[in-house]
Amino acid sequence: MEIFEEIEPLRAFLKGKRAALKSIGLVPTMGALHKGHLALIRASKAQNEVTISSIYINPTQFNNQADLDKYPRMREADIKLLETEGCDVLFAPSNTEMYSGYQSLTFDFGTLDKVLEGKFRPGHFSGVALVVSKLFNIVQPDRAYFGQKDYQQFQVIRRLNEELKFSIELHSVPIVREESGLALSSRNQRLNEQDKKNALFLYDTLSNAKVQLLKGMPFSEIKTEAETRAKKKGEVKLEYFELANKNTLQELEDVNDFKNGILLIAAFVSDVRLIDNMLLVAE
Ligand code: AMP
Repeated sequence: MEIFEEIEPLRAFLKGKRAALKSIGLVPTMGALHKGHLALIRASKAQNEVTISSIYINPTQFNNQADLDKYPRMREADIKLLETEGCDVLFAPSNTEMYSGYQSLTFDFGTLDKVLEGKFRPGHFSGVALVVSKLFNIVQPDRAYFGQKDYQQFQVIRRLNEELKFSIELHSVPIVREESGLALSSRNQRLNEQDKKNALFLYDTLSNAKVQLLKGMPFSEIKTEAETRAKKKGEVKLEYFELANKNTLQELEDVNDFKNGILLIAAFVSDVRLIDNMLLVAE
């Protein structure tokens, strides 16, 4: 695997690949790689001749300094995993490489980034859009791969791709879970065994809600029940639990519009913030 820490040598390398008409797939990550990330690498390898993964913990998307400080960093293990998976290129830049010069651009996605994650993490999606724009410009991939796990992020990036005419083919890869149902996340590394059991609250709440909704139970009742269960549990602090339209992420207007419905949840387990989601009808 070729490893680049600087933009210009990477650009030169990729220019050669493009000249040889090789298709390029990009998988952006923040490292501490797990099977969810590897599913994205596999999806890219199946469709592209060159797969490039980036590992960059982007400071502008963190609205909480402690979260940024505690984010797991494990470069050597990540490199091994990428090599085993057959990833062709790793781009692992420093902050100075990514953020030298002006730092004035911000993004506003209207109603899309004011709800859910955007509401609880002000500025988060502006930082995501900024770093993804930089990566798209540096790599100029044919295709880029993201996880359904960060569902709202994918909708924001889709809008970014359309508005800025990047013309990159975007792919959303289904959520990879542990056998228990817990969605894989780099942040899970900060959970002990008991925390992991408590963290099942997210998946269980989503799965139960889906069944109850399909049976005709109003979402308001389901949500109140979930809030009560979280309070009783104590170790779980529910931040939001919503039923939304899967395209706009605004409240689902017609509760019987199951094919457009998605449930999204965020909760703290100990001091670790976890998110998960579930489409009412799988795509
Ligand atoms: P991160 O390193 O957390 O920024 O994630 C990098 C990419 O991997 C994002 O597109 C995530 O949505 C995706 N991802 C993270 N966890 C999972 C998972 N459990 N299943 C599928 N994709 C995931």
